[in-house]
Amino acid sequence: MSTFKELGLNKDLLAAINDLGFESPSDVQAKAIPILLEKDTDLVALAQTGTGKTAAFGFPMLQKINVESRTTQGLILSPTRELCLQITNELKQYGNYCKGLNVVAIYGGASISDQAKQVKRGAQIIVATPGRMKDMISRNMVDISKIEYSVLDEADEMLNMGFYEDITDILSHTPEDKSTWLFSATMPKEVARIARDFMHDPIEITVGNKNESTNQVSHEYYLVNARDRYQALKRLADANPDIFSVIFCRTKRDTQKVAENLIEDGYSAGALHGDLSQNQRDLVMKSFRNKQIQMLVATDVAARGIDVDDITHVINYQLPDEIETYTHRSGRTGRAGKTGVSMVIVSKSEVRKIKSIERIIKKEFEKKEIPNGMEICEVQLMSLANKVHHTKVNHEIDKYLESINELFSDTDKDELIKKFFSVEFSRFFNYYQKAKDLNVSDSSRGHEGERSSSSGNETRYFINVGRKDGYDWMKLKDFLKEVLELGRDDVFKVDVKDSFSFFNTDKENEAKVLAFFTDFKHEGRFVNVEVSEDKGGRNRGGKRRDGGKRRRRDDKPRGERRSRRSDSGFSGRRSDRKSSEGSGNRKDRRRAEQSSVSDRPRRSRR
Ligand code: ADP
Ligand code: MG
Repeated sequence: MSTFKELGLNKDLLAAINDLGFESPSDVQAKAIPILLEKDTDLVALAQTGTGKTAAFGFPMLQKINVESRTTQGLILSPTRELCLQITNELKQYGNYCKGLNVVAIYGGASISDQAKQVKRGAQIIVATPGRMKDMISRNMVDISKIEYSVLDEADEMLNMGFYEDITDILSHTPEDKSTWLFSATMPKEVARIARDFMHDPIEITVGNKNESTNQVSHEYYLVNARDRYQALKRLADANPDIFSVIFCRTKRDTQKVAENLIEDGYSAGALHGDLSQNQRDLVMKSFRNKQIQMLVATDVAARGIDVDDITHVINYQLPDEIETYTHRSGRTGRAGKTGVSMVIVSKSEVRKIKSIERIIKKEFEKKEIPNGMEICEVQLMSLANKVHHTKVNHEIDKYLESINELFSDTDKDELIKKFFSVEFSRFFNYYQKAKDLNVSDSSRGHEGERSSSSGNETRYFINVGRKDGYDWMKLKDFLKEVLELGRDDVFKVDVKDSFSFFNTDKENEAKVLAFFTDFKHEGRFVNVEVSEDKGGRNRGGKRRDGGKRRRRDDKPRGERRSRRSDSGFSGRRSDRKSSEGSGNRKDRRRAEQSSVSDRPRRSRR
């Protein structure tokens, strides 16, 4: 593997790279940077999202331009304002030690005269969206007649969005002998046409199979009835208390609706689609970046190019029409060396699409079950226990300690813990104890379906290792199979959470598993395995603590709206009650007030 230094980058860039903590060049960087540094050539580079394309063109451009001159020498076109700002920001960081460097972003929805002023001060590099760029050219606010390097970033998407004319118009104002570098995730006909019409013998580089999705992403699908889609979404969120996700819908309308429903149900969610004003979109993106929003519901176009690195889950609320779009979606997670999960909620009529996607992305989906109520309660409880365990004590509390101690003078530790956790647990428990199984069995997928219907003979276990310990479901399954000396299909329904996991074996293996994990140490720590309350795959409520005295009225399933409302109190991401009461009808509101759920402040992720 090469180093950035070996690629020929100068000391100013190396210093910035060091600050950024980039250890070694990504594939596309290793291929593109030496070529672009050594030659004045046109280039077509195909690489997935998240592979570091910005630096692949950014480093060479920064090294080649003359920062002592104030002439505009580099022009980068990108499809959206969001992306335009991201690239500008990245370039500024990369060029932190390039004294005199001025990178200016030009995009719609902000003051054109302010942008013109910035350009006038001397911008060696302009990063622009095509529409605003064209506008500024026609008003003589920019001069790109002397540029030496032009970049078409996310070319496929720019063409998708209908920017062909604008791009050709803009390029007609640039010198014939400049170099053009085109970066794209895919190579549809239109991109090939740009390459043919506007570039001279471009060198082509491709990183990986151009349709291959990123390795760090695992793909899962959940088969439910179409009418249960929204409920399924919420369970997936509840089963992943630390979720930080993008949820894709097909239309702006669905996007808006799902986001509104989530907000009403107490999740920290937001919508991102083209019907929002630029200002609204900026606000949503800002909250998402700050992690105030955990679930960003978006259309494909609006989400394109979102460069947020630690997205844990991409949820396909509906599958896209084009398989290529699926690749873009799942590429939002598993970025910058992290792992991610792409989940698909499908109904029976769509399940065959999964097979076509598998063929194209050359990866298998794992069919998983929507977690049942008790499983979610367990996850939430353990997640809370972990959080409590890791919480730093706030000593402001000390002065109230005496009165609190007095209150609990007769309560022993066990009892206190139980009470403390019941505050949270009961909320989930009360809601989920009666929640139905949302899974639909999938006869067309053979043995997996059979597995999930044979739950009577299975044991479900809790194990105290999870994602934080470097496991994903495959690694954990392999680990368990190996240490337990079990066969290929003997460990199943492996479900890895952040700091713990679940798995199943047939009942006959239970004694063996438990015996093995008595006092078992792995890499210096005790690995603890216990039989989980829940058997996995099926809902077995039946542990009502109130002897059935709870208001029956509230328990009755009364269609989508009703059940949404009853969900509202129990999410790990409860935001303020006000937002959820704002829109419900009177009856709903009263019910919400009556419910045993107490208000609590929004819990932020970090
Ligand atoms: P792309 O344009 O291919 O979708 P980006 O250029 O936006 O990808 O890069 C994705 C993320 O990876 C960014 O946060 C970037 O800072 C980071 N990154 C880029 N190159 C490297 C590298 N060599 N090592 C580590 N992180 C990198
Ligand atoms: Mg990019």
